[in-house]
Amino acid sequence: ASCQQKTVSQNEAGLDYKDASLDVEQRVQDLLSRMTLEEKVAQMCQFVGLEHMRQAEKNLTKDELAQSDAQGFYPGLHSSDVEKMVDEGKIGSFLHVLDIEEANYLQKLAAQSRLGIPLLIGIDAIHGTALVNGATVYPTPIGLASTWDTTLVKRLSVETAREVRAAGSTWTFTPNVDVARDARWGRVGETFGEDPFLVSKMGVAMIQGLQNSNDPEKMNVLACAKHLIAGSQSVNGLNGAPTDLSERTIREVFLPPYKAAVDAGVFSVMTAHNELNGIPCHADKWMMEEVMRKELGFEGFVVSDWMDIERLHTRHLVAENQKEACYQTVMAGMDMHMHGPGFLENVVELVKEGRIPESRIEESARRILTAKFKLGLFENPFVDPEVKEKVLFNANHQNTSLEAARKSLVLLKNEKELLPLKGQGKRIFVTGSNANNQTVLGDWSHQQPDENVTTILEGIKEVAPVNCNIDFLDVGINPRNLTEQHIKQAADKAEKADYAVVVVGSNSFRWDWNEKTAGENSARSSLELFGLQRELVKAIYNTGTPTIVVLINGRPLAIDWIAENVPSVVEAWEPGSMGGLAMGELLFGQINPSAKLPVSIPRTVGQQLSIYNHKPTHYFHKYVDDETGPLFHFGYGLSYTKFNYESIQLSQPSLRAGEKLKVKVVVSNVGDRDGDEVVQLYLKDKYASVTRPVKELKAFRRIALKRGESRQVTFTITPEMMKFLGPDMTPVVEKGEFLVMVGSSSRDKDLLTIPFILK
Ligand code: BGC
Repeated sequence: ASCQQKTVSQNEAGLDYKDASLDVEQRVQDLLSRMTLEEKVAQMCQFVGLEHMRQAEKNLTKDELAQSDAQGFYPGLHSSDVEKMVDEGKIGSFLHVLDIEEANYLQKLAAQSRLGIPLLIGIDAIHGTALVNGATVYPTPIGLASTWDTTLVKRLSVETAREVRAAGSTWTFTPNVDVARDARWGRVGETFGEDPFLVSKMGVAMIQGLQNSNDPEKMNVLACAKHLIAGSQSVNGLNGAPTDLSERTIREVFLPPYKAAVDAGVFSVMTAHNELNGIPCHADKWMMEEVMRKELGFEGFVVSDWMDIERLHTRHLVAENQKEACYQTVMAGMDMHMHGPGFLENVVELVKEGRIPESRIEESARRILTAKFKLGLFENPFVDPEVKEKVLFNANHQNTSLEAARKSLVLLKNEKELLPLKGQGKRIFVTGSNANNQTVLGDWSHQQPDENVTTILEGIKEVAPVNCNIDFLDVGINPRNLTEQHIKQAADKAEKADYAVVVVGSNSFRWDWNEKTAGENSARSSLELFGLQRELVKAIYNTGTPTIVVLINGRPLAIDWIAENVPSVVEAWEPGSMGGLAMGELLFGQINPSAKLPVSIPRTVGQQLSIYNHKPTHYFHKYVDDETGPLFHFGYGLSYTKFNYESIQLSQPSLRAGEKLKVKVVVSNVGDRDGDEVVQLYLKDKYASVTRPVKELKAFRRIALKRGESRQVTFTITPEMMKFLGPDMTPVVEKGEFLVMVGSSSRDKDLLTIPFILK
């Protein structure tokens, strides 16, 4: 307990770096001047938490330990070695320290080392700090992006920062600003979808919420934009496979969210598993130094991804040994090595041999120490169990999680207004692999206490009218174990019901790699529902009982049969701790759905990429075996009310450099319920010197309209919004005719269009 009280608020023993009244730069300078080469390199070393290592030591056999690299266990490295290294000041950072006692213990060890430099502890808190037991779990990022509500995302990121800190970490490996255009890739649910503009807006909201405090010299927690770059579009959709993309696509599609993140002050960036155009991202000097630092002005530090420096040697085969891998990555601009032994020794040797200049190491140490000072770690690195108790899953955070879930559920189809259900006196049958378990939490979550999670079944029961009878059939969590027997039983039960709710999808929650069907390293070669899930839906639908399909999944699935036949379909993504409750409210009409897809839903796997912002010839010819175009368009989502768009007008017919153009449109709620609408604005360049997308999202606004209410919504267009890379790759704004489109989705028939001239 005594260590938890320890704060160093003033110059201790005449050491400037311990003097909190000095500014961060002075403190860093003073500390660096006292550090040995080894101590500087130590700041670049990160290890996984002790408990994580101990579990592996317990569960894996000696042989497995010796062989395993995927899980990050190195032959001969034990948790006790790591403890000793902290004590000796040889480690600067940890990840996944999930228990505050361990966090305090490690910080205490670090405080006892020669210079007493605190540890930077990082965690994948990508939708709440969900790896921590008892934390608030918000919808996964694809669901957050579906809200199109940046204010909300910022607010829940402030809350996440509080929970992260209260649980012993000060760094989150989020936001994931990968632009996700290929649904085969398992990590789509971790992203904000396929559009660079929306991804940028969401990423910035998250960074601001996580990092910003009122004092510019201080940070709440450190955010991390990842993964640099374009691993979301690797060959075959396989995680970590090569990416081969033109510089134009990199700069126009994948880089904008990083530019936005840097402009928002993001202080760390993580490199990607994959290679890009022949260069592994972990050795890509062009990207780390030229683009990120020189062009975009990134001032924070770059962290490697899990064991990917090693993979320069073991997988990419560009380094003949580990030492060479360390050389390549550091010289390319890497600042921190994520997990594993050897980096410290190799890098120290490389400096002593004169291959890496010490100034290069000093740069990295300076950046990392700057973060530690800004986080206030030198003043108090410890956490208090009472604070954790008060902060985690508190009532405010639960409310925000519920609000986010409510706004993230996308109503894809609702024929004959089957929804909302009229539950009075009715019998409702609920089933499906994701109906009654924690798959609602999504990836990067550990099992949470049952009482903290509302499953879909529980949410339905909670909201259903008292005289409504809910009948449930448990078919197990793993769709691979779904049998004909289950299907028969389900059909029998459905037949007797007034409505059937079938909850299907994928499972990215389980940390059991045999059960996961989405999430990291869970790519798909098909986008069909796993196992017999579709057959389950079909059998239920065929009974004639009005059927609602609820999809719990981290990535778009090819649900063409369902979309064609089943009257009501809700894409719920992975809605978090309160997701079941929000879903219950949606089914019974206590809330009105308002979410819009941040990603196109393809018809079949073969139609990847089904992106909305494609080039003009994307659908030049048709498939012989299928329709072209997505099943559901980017930006699409229904409401229980109806919105009408009319009277689009411009403040002037043309626009010159330095001018602004206003676009006005009248949006009316013409249905019989209050509702929220996301008004979207797209631009199209009619003719340009290089091919340009058929449309690009440039602005959006979420508005609330009472039934019968009309509102004029105004957007401002500037020439800057029409900038692109010309034939010689320099940014240009070309004169000529443009189209501005405003409406409720990216689908042509949902948009009002008006031309203007750029002079
Ligand atoms: C993932 C990263 C993550 C890291 C640490 C890696 O496998 O690619 O996104 O931050 O592990 O958990």
